[in-house]
Amino acid sequence: MKTCSKPKKNTPKKKKTPTKITITRVDADIATHNGLFDEGCYGSSCKDECCGWGCDMDLTTLKLVQKHRKLVEPLIGAKIEECFSTPLKIDDDYIGGAYRETAVRKKDGLCAFHLKGQKGCSLFYLWITEKLPKKIVPTICRTYPITWHRGRLFIDKPLKKNCKAKEKTPKGTKVPSLFETQKKEVRALFDIPAKELKKLIGK
Ligand code: SF4
Ligand code: SF4
Repeated sequence: MKTCSKPKKNTPKKKKTPTKITITRVDADIATHNGLFDEGCYGSSCKDECCGWGCDMDLTTLKLVQKHRKLVEPLIGAKIEECFSTPLKIDDDYIGGAYRETAVRKKDGLCAFHLKGQKGCSLFYLWITEKLPKKIVPTICRTYPITWHRGRLFIDKPLKKNCKAKEKTPKGTKVPSLFETQKKEVRALFDIPAKELKKLIGK
């Protein structure tokens, strides 16, 4: 006998907050372009040139930055509230479903979250030294110069002048590709369909 069930209320489904970024196609040159080999950014002559643009900070990152503000603020010499150039924008293309753009410091022309007076990012620094969750580092800063936009994963060309991925290597020397040097981050942060992933892993 069929049981009678109560009619369900027509309530709108709650949208899931994105914890990974959905990718639908990848550019194959990610698997062939030289990567951030050896010690990566730290082992290059680059003075953190890509930090000169500031970055888009995912909502998930922003919440962690606010939670750990007492650790962040002394490293950057500013209050968190002073470190953004835009208000929060809702956007599913970001982890947490929204983002803010960071400001660029007048004094050194670098992102407001760059360590004051020395090479490196305060958020990477805190992840390493204080063992904070890695999501305290914005997605784009973990994968750069691999980036994404509305489902496409690609290399943000042209690369900055002194980017490690542009460094000349002796003829015949093989260095790991961008996918090889960034794959841990790419896999942790993006949902890539198997067909597209094959372009990168070649199987
Ligand atoms: S958050 Fe850190 S790595 Fe990202 S742009 Fe700012 S200083 Fe550079
Ligand atoms: S420009 Fe290249 S080498 Fe320099 S900090 Fe950015 S990713 Fe690293």
